[in-house]
Amino acid sequence: MKAAQQGQPTDSQADKPTRRMIFAYQSASAIALAISLFWTVAFAREGLWLLSASEIILATVSLASWLLIRAGRFTAALIITEIAFLTFILTFSLMFDTPTPDAPRVSHLYLPVLAMLAYINYLRRRSVFQLGFIAVALLCYIVFTSGVPALPFAQPIPDELRPAGVWANSIISTVMMVGAIYALQLEFARHKGMARDLRMALRNRELELFLQPQVDRAGALIGAEALLRWKHPQRGYIPPGVFIPVAEESGLMPLLGPWVLAESCRILGSWKADPALSSLSLAVNVSASQFAAEDFEEQVLGLAALHGADPARLKLELTESVIVSGLERVAGKMQTLRKSGIRFALDDFGTGYSALSYLQRLPVDEIKIDRSFVQEAPAGGNAASLVRSIVQIGLDLGHVMLAEGVETREQYTMLRACGCAEFQGYYFGRPVSRAAFEQSARGKPESLADIPA
Ligand code: C2E
Ligand code: CA
Ligand code: CA
Repeated sequence: MKAAQQGQPTDSQADKPTRRMIFAYQSASAIALAISLFWTVAFAREGLWLLSASEIILATVSLASWLLIRAGRFTAALIITEIAFLTFILTFSLMFDTPTPDAPRVSHLYLPVLAMLAYINYLRRRSVFQLGFIAVALLCYIVFTSGVPALPFAQPIPDELRPAGVWANSIISTVMMVGAIYALQLEFARHKGMARDLRMALRNRELELFLQPQVDRAGALIGAEALLRWKHPQRGYIPPGVFIPVAEESGLMPLLGPWVLAESCRILGSWKADPALSSLSLAVNVSASQFAAEDFEEQVLGLAALHGADPARLKLELTESVIVSGLERVAGKMQTLRKSGIRFALDDFGTGYSALSYLQRLPVDEIKIDRSFVQEAPAGGNAASLVRSIVQIGLDLGHVMLAEGVETREQYTMLRACGCAEFQGYYFGRPVSRAAFEQSARGKPESLADIPA
């Protein structure tokens, strides 16, 4: 599927930090490296080898972080640096920086700065890790401020070095806090700017639905998933992972969601008259807030009727997060839509809470196994057993199992052997523009996989 490779923004573009961000984080790593090297020498000159060694560890982490950012491993650099700095501060506070009547403890003053940096990283890319990190850092700050005694085997910094350390660390941590506030302000401004641009994008028709093929066990095309793209006039194609969270926060989802649904119904309506496309289904992602809208059912059915789309060809993809608006309510809405022929897929299965009782009570037709499981599957061992069990549970409950994120022939073969009936992933084709998808579907080979059924 050659055309499938065209016009596809890569995943790395999604999280690509701005140049200013890279510069800021690399400068911070360089400053931390310089400060820790200074203290390595200062402690070594006093014969304080343990302290000097601890500063060498910090210098190594700072250098590693600088190198990782240079190599483009931005997320890895952030996570490693955050964990290493938190561990260092806690160890240093308990082992060396013990409070005395003349000199207070100061190392813990860096904890709120770390929490603030984690929050900026959280705004950049939502993750439970960053939230947990913030909670731990702030909790430790409270505990240390309330006065934690030294460890019994602590080796306090000598008194003559302490006044300089207290002043230096108080000043540096305050300056870093001011820097973090400034960075936070820049991040908020970026969000606000993006929300404004997104509003304009809707008006200027800069949004587009890309289509990614879905295939059956024989590798034959059976439909597509519609994936939103923003064709930004300056930045090129922006993937949804970047702008959907902004849309959610700035209250733009009530505009964006219906646009996606309307566009999908329009596509399905136009496929009806084309023999090469009329049997294909279209899967559409629906966010939890969109599904919770009072008139969601009328919206979907109204749009399908308006654009002449066959509801039986429309598949709505929900994640477990829809359950926040109440299991019974959600199940009721799904039943209403299913009566009209609309099908439901449970997306990203296995990544959330995935309580089996939910699975039993939600009237879903299909389960999409998340790509994190799919990609681990051929490795064998526990990963393979886990995938096999997930597929089996789904099959036992009477669901169609779809493996997403299939990138290799091994993954396809393995998941097919497990009992998956449908597949989606780069192995069969990347998300492409509607025109490219339709062109390749019309001239489609019997199978998109180079493997016999
Ligand atoms: P998703 O629903 O899990 O969509 C699958 C994502 O995996 C897509 O990323 C797709 O490009 C990517 N993908 C597909 N096959 C492979 C593969 O073989 N390997 C790898 N590494 N990735 C693969 P995309 O397009 O960036 O979308 C990201 C997420 O944004 C989607 O995840 C979905 O949650 C959300 N999204 C996309 N379009 C919409 C939309 O119209 N409405 C809503 N509410 N959310 C959307
Ligand atoms: Ca999806
Ligand atoms: Ca998914």
